[in-house]
Amino acid sequence: MAKIYLKKGREESVLRFHPWVFSGAVAQCTGDPAEGDLVDVYSSEGVYLGCGHYQIGSIAVRLLSFCADPKAPDFWELSLRRALDTRMALGLSLSGGSTDCFRLVHGEGDSLPGLIIDYYAGVCVIQAHSAGMFRAKKRICEALKTVLGDNLKAVYDKSAATAPFKAGLDLIDGYLWRADSFQESEIAVSENGVRFMVDWEGGQKTGFFLDQRENRKLVGSLSAGRRVLNLFCYTGGFSLYARAGGAASVTSVDSSARAMAMLARNEELNGFEAGENVCADAISYLSSVPDGAYDLIVVDPPAFAKHRGALKNALRAYQRLNAAAIAKVAPGGFVFTFSCSQVVDRESFALMVFSAAASTGRSVRIMERLFQAPDHPVNIYHPEGEYLKGLLLYVD
Ligand code: SAH
Repeated sequence: MAKIYLKKGREESVLRFHPWVFSGAVAQCTGDPAEGDLVDVYSSEGVYLGCGHYQIGSIAVRLLSFCADPKAPDFWELSLRRALDTRMALGLSLSGGSTDCFRLVHGEGDSLPGLIIDYYAGVCVIQAHSAGMFRAKKRICEALKTVLGDNLKAVYDKSAATAPFKAGLDLIDGYLWRADSFQESEIAVSENGVRFMVDWEGGQKTGFFLDQRENRKLVGSLSAGRRVLNLFCYTGGFSLYARAGGAASVTSVDSSARAMAMLARNEELNGFEAGENVCADAISYLSSVPDGAYDLIVVDPPAFAKHRGALKNALRAYQRLNAAAIAKVAPGGFVFTFSCSQVVDRESFALMVFSAAASTGRSVRIMERLFQAPDHPVNIYHPEGEYLKGLLLYVD
């Protein structure tokens, strides 16, 4: 099929789904389309924009579709290029820079339902949540090689643990591709200049929780001089930012010994002495904390509700946990509270925190509403894609 490349800056109307491409916007046409032929339209940077009917005249193309055709041989390359483009527009970086790790593909938010790809300084970790995506993984891997070029070090498939499908597929995690020189099973990444080790083989999910990047930054900016308690700390995301932000002390709690071991390595990686690191159940730890012992508490539990049926009990558990954190924080303290359960919507979450606050009898104000980081985009027609919600509370 003939290809039409637009002049620089002329893709904007197409990106806003306007179906006309004027001849004055066309920089180049490869192939020799006859009037009425289907042509593919690309931005000046080679990003696929859509497909439509070609005509000689002031309207050169009338677009019929703005989506790449999944049957086309270059579908994956085009889709991944488009996903990467939006991450680059956010100022994220493939190598170097202050942040070299990000979510490259966020399922529905990137018009690729069922596919997650996280990028860690050259290592792509894929999670397929549908049999279709799982079966496409080799093609996805090939397209990643083309789109990321020399930046790519490895592609790891980590679908098995979370796969909601069977389909007689061979569900074993493993490398789809590795550069000859790359044998590591973990890598150091930078997130806003803070360094973390990511272990995609043995860590939880794809190895790291990239969705909290912006919220970690906020914690860092409010930590100076505060005694910080980070509950459900995993490998210390919030803890390290609090340290870098000048916290008076940081206590980190997680029930996973493996996560706590990685936290210790992350402290070292950033040149910090070991903090107070506690491998324990976060809920019982919190109940043993004396009132007023902390000035900033982060509550970032795993999803208590994985499906609708579990919602009621989950909300009760969230409420008890939040009530305890609000009750314990020192006067003038901050509580960062989150839920990553997709079935808990923002309104139920806020109501739950409201009940928790009311049960403590303390004065509690909402200072900020918190979201997943912008490399986890939400398709406007699929609001369920906004799964991470949080509140920053100030407790007098
Ligand atoms: N805040 C983290 C991500 C938290 S993910 C970050 O920024 O990276 C949730 C964490 O809760 C996981 O590390 C898991 O090991 C831990 N966890 C699950 N149940 C727990 C419990 N009952 N007590 C303490 N930690 C728990």
